[in-house]
Amino acid sequence: MATELLFRDDAYLQTADARVVAVDERGIALDRTIFYPLGGGQPGDTGALVRSNGERIAVADTRKGDSIDTVLHGPAPETPRPEIGETLTLEIDWARRYALMRLHTALHIMSCVVVAPVTGGNIAPEKARLDFDIDMSLLDAGRIESETNALIARGIETETVWITDAELDARPELVKTMSVQPPRGAGRVRLLRIPGIDLQPCGGTHVRNIREIGGIRVLRIRSEGRRNRRVEIALAS
Ligand SMILES: [Zn+2]
Repeated sequence: MATELLFRDDAYLQTADARVVAVDERGIALDRTIFYPLGGGQPGDTGALVRSNGERIAVADTRKGDSIDTVLHGPAPETPRPEIGETLTLEIDWARRYALMRLHTALHIMSCVVVAPVTGGNIAPEKARLDFDIDMSLLDAGRIESETNALIARGIETETVWITDAELDARPELVKTMSVQPPRGAGRVRLLRIPGIDLQPCGGTHVRNIREIGGIRVLRIRSEGRRNRRVEIALAS
């Protein structure tokens, strides 16, 4: 059964109520969720599912289930398990998620400063990286940092747009990330648009206005292989 993905329409939801629809050794499935499941380089959310008696079920990780749009909440070891049909109050670790949203959106902007195919990427709460198929001599940390921060300072509102699979097939230039193709099969694909800066398929969570990123620092640039020149960043503050 598909989980209603509340974070898709509002990435700022920190709490919501949901009903338990399945519980097994892989995790807890709910009818709706604010927990983002691991995907597209963004880690799954952590947090808690709170029972009506106040008991807290700690969520250590969130993953996609077997079918499209299903989400499994992975309980921490030794934490209680809920009953099917039970209503729970969901709470995500908001400080962690908001840092991920700021860094994730920053990667979109940096991918427009470094003009090269993206061959990999990852986001963690304290740092994020993109790998590019580019000559090392073309990567300058100071320039990447200042140009990315200049774009962030424009304070542009981000937008979510949806297109059909067929429309995406007709515009392959939209897909910058060679290692992560956008999910197909649902008939439509979600894009993040930062007007005037970036437009690309992405199912992750982003800030409403790029001003919220504040700014970034380039931590280091190193070669991880001929087609993987890695640029690692952190939030400036
Ligand atoms: Zn994104």
